Amino acid sequence: MTDTLAPFTPPTVPQERRIVTAIPGPKSLALHARRLAVVPVGVSSALPVYIARAHGAIVIDVDGNQFIDLGAGIGVTTIGHTNDAVVAAAAEQLGELTHAAFTITPYEGYVRVAELLAEHTPGAHAKKTVLQNSGAEAVENGVKIARKFTGKNGVAVLDHAYHGRTNLTMAMTFKAMPYALGFGPFAGDIYRAPNSYPFHDGLSGPDAAKRTIAYLEKVVGAADLACLIVEPIQGEGGFQVPASGYLPALQEWCTANGVVFIADEIQSGMARTGAYFASEHFGVVPDLVLSAKGIAGGLPLAAITGRAEIMDAAHPGGLGGTFGGNPVSAAAAIAVFEQIESQGLLAEAKRIENILKPALLELQKKYDVIGDVRGIGAMNAIELVLPGTHEPNAAAVASIAAYAGQNGVILLTAGTYGNVLRFLPSLAISDDLLREALAILDEALAAL
Ligand SMILES: *Cc1c(COP(=O)(O)O)cnc(C)c1O
Repeated sequence: MTDTLAPFTPPTVPQERRIVTAIPGPKSLALHARRLAVVPVGVSSALPVYIARAHGAIVIDVDGNQFIDLGAGIGVTTIGHTNDAVVAAAAEQLGELTHAAFTITPYEGYVRVAELLAEHTPGAHAKKTVLQNSGAEAVENGVKIARKFTGKNGVAVLDHAYHGRTNLTMAMTFKAMPYALGFGPFAGDIYRAPNSYPFHDGLSGPDAAKRTIAYLEKVVGAADLACLIVEPIQGEGGFQVPASGYLPALQEWCTANGVVFIADEIQSGMARTGAYFASEHFGVVPDLVLSAKGIAGGLPLAAITGRAEIMDAAHPGGLGGTFGGNPVSAAAAIAVFEQIESQGLLAEAKRIENILKPALLELQKKYDVIGDVRGIGAMNAIELVLPGTHEPNAAAVASIAAYAGQNGVILLTAGTYGNVLRFLPSLAISDDLLREALAILDEALAAL
C-alpha cells in the first residue's frame, strides 16, 4: 500500500493532426491480433486504431498518430476529451468515495445531479430524476415508469429510432441488422409509427404529425398506450430533424390522450445542439427526458428526469440498480454542468454550426452525392445519395469514412441505410481543426 499519490498530470496532447505510420500502425495491428483471440466478433470497431490518450478534440493512438475527432466517442466527450475540470472532479471523488450504492446508503452527488437536471431540462414544473449506467437503461426505466403511471402497456416508437441494445430496447430500435437480428424473442407491446423525415417524405410538420397520430389511433389505440418515445433529432437512424410543428403536435396528442411523452435526448442532449436539450429548439416540454452519452464527460451515467407525479408512480424499491448514479460519474456530471455554464459552451455549439453548416452546404453544391445537409449546433449530418435521386449511397459513405480515418479524421457514419455521415465534434474543437477536417472531407468526396 502506498500512502502518497502522484499528483495528476494532464496528458500531453497537442491539438494537431499528425499521421506518422500506416493506418492502422504496427502497434495497433499487434493489439488487434490479441483482441481477435479474446474479444468476440460481435463487438466490432469502425477504425481499429488503438487509442492511448486524448484531450480536447484530438485522440492519439498507440503508434503516435493524432486524429481530429469528429465523433467524440459517439457524442460522449461533448465538452472535450479529458476535460481538466471533469478529470479533477472525478479523480478527487475516486479517492473520497468510489461506491456506496445509492439504494443502500445515499450520498450528495446523486442528489446534486438530480437538482441540476431539474434545473436544466425543459419546463419549470417539479421534476425528479433516477440515475442509471447506460442509455438503454434510461430508456428501459422510462418505459417502466410510464407503464406504472398510466396503468397501460403499449410503447410507441418512430421509424428510424435507435434506443439501445438490451432486450426491450432492441425491440424499440428500428434497424434489425445489426442491432436485433437473431437475438429474439423480443418484448411485445411495441408499436412503430412513421416519423417526420423531410428529405424523404416532403411533409410539413403538421402533416407528418397527422400521419403519425393516425397510425397511433388506428393501429395501436390510445387506450392502451403508455408512452410515445421520440428522439428530438434522431441519432443512429440518420440525424433526421423533424419538420417544424411535428413534435408539438405529437406532444399535444399525447397530453390529450393520457400518453406519456418521452424525449430520448441521449444523443441530442447536454449542450450538443446549443441548447441543454434539443427539445427546446422545437418548443416541446417532454413529460420525461432521457440523458446519457454527454452527461458525465466520458464516465458512464444515464438519467431519467420527469414530472414529479409521473416519476413518483413507481413504488419504493421499484427503481434503482447497483451502480446507478455512481459517485465518480456523478462528480464528473456536476463538473460537466459547471463547465457548460462557466465556459459558455452552449454558444460553442452555435460557433461550430456556423462553420460546419455553410461548409457542408458548399460541399453539397460541389458534389451531387450529397442529397441533404441537416442538423443543429454540433450535431450535423449529410445524407449521401446516388446522384440525382433520393436512393441511398452507402458505398460513398463507407469510402469517405475510410479515407478520413486514413488521413487522421475520425468520422462517424449513421442511417438506416448506412448512407449518412454525422458530425459530432466536441465543443472544444478549434475553428482551425474543424476547417482542416472539412478539407479532408472535401478530398474524400473528390476521391470518390
Ligand atoms: C446511444 C443511444 C442510446 C443507447 O445508449 P447506450 O448508452 O449505448 O445504452 C439510446 N438512445 C439514443 C438516442 C442513443 O443515441
